[in-house]
Amino acid sequence: MTASRTVLDLIIAGNAARPAMRAPERPPLTYAGLRALAERTVAALNGIGIGRGDRVAIVLPNGPEMAASFVAIAAGATTAPLNPAYKDEEFEFYLTDLKAKALVVLQGAETPARAVAQRLGVPVVELVPGAAAGEFTLSGGSPGKAAKPGLAEAEDVALVLHTSGTTARPKIVPLTHANVTASADNIARTLRLTAEDACLNVMPLFHIHGLIAATLSSLAGGGAVICTPGFNALRFFGLLDTERPSWYTAVPTMHQAILQRAERNREIIARAPLRFIRSSSASLPAQAMKDLVAAFGAPVIEAYGMTEASHQMCSNPLPPQAQKPGLVGLPAGPEVAIMDDDGTILPQGSIGEIVIRGPNVTKGYEANPEANAKAFTNGWFRTGDQGMFDKDGYLMLTGRLKELIKRGGEQVSPLEVDGVLSEHPAVAQALTFSIPHPMLGEEVGAAVVLREGMSCTERELRDHAAQHLADFKVPRKVVFLPEIPKGATGKLMRIGLAEKLGITA
Ligand code: ATP
Ligand code: MG
Repeated sequence: MTASRTVLDLIIAGNAARPAMRAPERPPLTYAGLRALAERTVAALNGIGIGRGDRVAIVLPNGPEMAASFVAIAAGATTAPLNPAYKDEEFEFYLTDLKAKALVVLQGAETPARAVAQRLGVPVVELVPGAAAGEFTLSGGSPGKAAKPGLAEAEDVALVLHTSGTTARPKIVPLTHANVTASADNIARTLRLTAEDACLNVMPLFHIHGLIAATLSSLAGGGAVICTPGFNALRFFGLLDTERPSWYTAVPTMHQAILQRAERNREIIARAPLRFIRSSSASLPAQAMKDLVAAFGAPVIEAYGMTEASHQMCSNPLPPQAQKPGLVGLPAGPEVAIMDDDGTILPQGSIGEIVIRGPNVTKGYEANPEANAKAFTNGWFRTGDQGMFDKDGYLMLTGRLKELIKRGGEQVSPLEVDGVLSEHPAVAQALTFSIPHPMLGEEVGAAVVLREGMSCTERELRDHAAQHLADFKVPRKVVFLPEIPKGATGKLMRIGLAEKLGITA
């Protein structure tokens, strides 16, 4: 591993003749092809006045062009991938907030981003797909001179993202080439990725998980990323069969949708074996992990990541080391410690806020001194998550500080309650949340999705919870839903769920 590399350095280090990007029914793009694409793209951007440090918003459907444009544009400018599902006002907010110098859209695509950019005076550049997976040319923009032309350096910002907005208004996170390549190297090392590996990417590419864990870590390992339009449980097994990936990474809601269809796709699973399955970005219930291992006969590697860390902080290791269900594993890149409110690092076995420091961690939120003042203590970045290391050095998350349910004098970890509810045979998915309560402050509620063809009453579930949990942790209300509402990146949204569902104490 080399210190402080750029994204282009990762490509140059790959075997020129090997596939870097693949997509169904397209010839692969090799490492040599991707390098040439990046160099052409930087020259094209420089020719329309865009250079190092200038921000290019990317609004493309998930797929090989999105993955390749992230790499190629980062080689000489700053990328800002945006969710293509945004509406007018959101594009207006993000293009303005990011101070975008250009917007890249698919040729001919109808996206409200186009009109918003024109209104704001942001040049629109069209991406014209080529034959190989991810290959493209850019057209549009007016000839101009870039202030800083040429290839990006390690300390340039490669990527700006907004956090998922699960707990508060999304914050802008600038990540340098040094940050993202350190993270890609960390993941490649944890998963022992090689040129033989191919990751099936089902994650959205406007989120850190898909960009770094699926795409850049594959490139750091010298292997390929198989680009798909995004997650679809029906299409998933077909892709396993035709593309034969060696692994995939996803959020728990996706794994759970895959599990629902695993039984009827047993033959495909048998003939398209995976080396491992990775899960991150939200808590994977211990039961779901065990079910995945049983269905796929492959180890399930749960990892802990966040935007501000260019994704990975901890990860369960591959066999022969142990994968602990419900735990997020060993520090896997940055230093990870537990801190109390006063900034003191606590000994093993203590519960407190998880803090991190290392080359993959952002230097700070953009234009948000208040958030930065809260986030950094003595050089450590505060994750806002609470947890504890076990005796083997594996990290157990007890929840997000903002999501802990404060019921009277007691604190309830919603993750713990989710885990217990998920062990009930009729439960496919459970999400525990806070219900405002006039006397206690907060009360415990849970939303549950039942397994296909199974039934269960609220009373039965509460009894099940009471067998495994102290009384104050047992949900007072359980609601059954066909589906639990999710954010744009597939995360379950606990905060505000009671209000959204109209549940009161
Ligand atoms: P915001 O910061 O805007 O509220 P967000 O924190 O959801 O949104 P992300 O950066 O996408 O935005 O997510 C990082 C968070 O996801 C972590 O801080 C942690 O709370 C949660 N997370 C990540 N991996 C896991 C995991 N394996 N188990 C449980 N939670 C996880
Ligand atoms: Mg966060």
